[in-house]
Amino acid sequence: MIAISLPQTNDLGFYEIRMESVGGLGANVAGKIIGEAGVLRMGLGGANFASYGAEKKGTPVKSFVRFCAPDREVRTTSPVEFPHLLAILHESLIRAGIAAEGITHDTTVVVNSAHPAEEIRQALGMCGGALGSIDASGIAAAENSRANMVMLGAMTRASAFIDPGAIKEVISATLGHKYPQLLEGNLRAFDRGFAELELHQLVCTLEHEPPSPHRAVSPLGYKNAPMGGTIVNPGNTMLKDLSPTRMGRIPIYDRSQCINCGKCEYTCPDFCYTFAEGVDHKDRRGQVLVGIDYRYCKGCLRCVEACPTEALTTGADDEEYVAEHSFSQLGTSPPEKDGER
Ligand code: SF4
Ligand code: SF4
Repeated sequence: MIAISLPQTNDLGFYEIRMESVGGLGANVAGKIIGEAGVLRMGLGGANFASYGAEKKGTPVKSFVRFCAPDREVRTTSPVEFPHLLAILHESLIRAGIAAEGITHDTTVVVNSAHPAEEIRQALGMCGGALGSIDASGIAAAENSRANMVMLGAMTRASAFIDPGAIKEVISATLGHKYPQLLEGNLRAFDRGFAELELHQLVCTLEHEPPSPHRAVSPLGYKNAPMGGTIVNPGNTMLKDLSPTRMGRIPIYDRSQCINCGKCEYTCPDFCYTFAEGVDHKDRRGQVLVGIDYRYCKGCLRCVEACPTEALTTGADDEEYVAEHSFSQLGTSPPEKDGER
């Protein structure tokens, strides 16, 4: 095995990778594949793990990989705050302002996007480092694969040290074993991600560069943490906007087909549906569905599956449509008669 030298390392001796994604796009699997390729097939030291919520789809996911020289002990298990390589698998995370944290003038960013690089650079506020973009979702759809395979190819190329052969071996050994019928498409998606990434070196034109990496010291420690780990900050998920992590599709509601059965409401895990006292199409008074609050909708489409009529169908997550049709549960009165909204 040839000794690999890492192109950059931080003060602890690690080259660090972070993937920003949403559940269902495969960032966790991609992190495992890179970690396994680096440690078991390229002879590096390293570790990987992911952080995600209880839901499988549509919630924010972060996946972390760190590599070091093989003779260094890995004693760091914290999330990657200042990545050398940052991959953004879902573009709307940039809009939400949570993907760009920790970018420095040494960071290479790879984004799943069909937008021009300059537009992405401005959205990320980058003024140094390198920026690569690739339409991973489009390529994945064309190759019958997933965006994570295309992004794996793009990240491998952007890293300049990860061996594409090692990654393909891991893909073949793991996904090829589990889903042999999809292996060819997955390998093609990886190759296209590697070949089609457009990588730009950025020259800082701003007067001030982004801050150099430094680790924040937690304000809470064993001396001053609240007893029993109590959370003393009041919080409320009513104010949480889940739309940035949506999977690109939403339920479309056609009131004329609705029989007010309530199946969507008790299927939805995020309480997007609002029923209120009203009058249905047959002039009967009762609980009627008054709308969907798209802020809480993560696009899992369970409600569409549950709906017994054609009242709910699948549509594209279009900003204008959502702005026009979202029923706000905060401060909006329901209509008196069904059909008035
Ligand atoms: S409204 Fe439908 S698609 Fe949105 S979170 Fe609820 S069940 Fe999922
Ligand atoms: S499941 Fe379909 S028919 Fe039933 S209340 Fe919801 S939208 Fe209407």
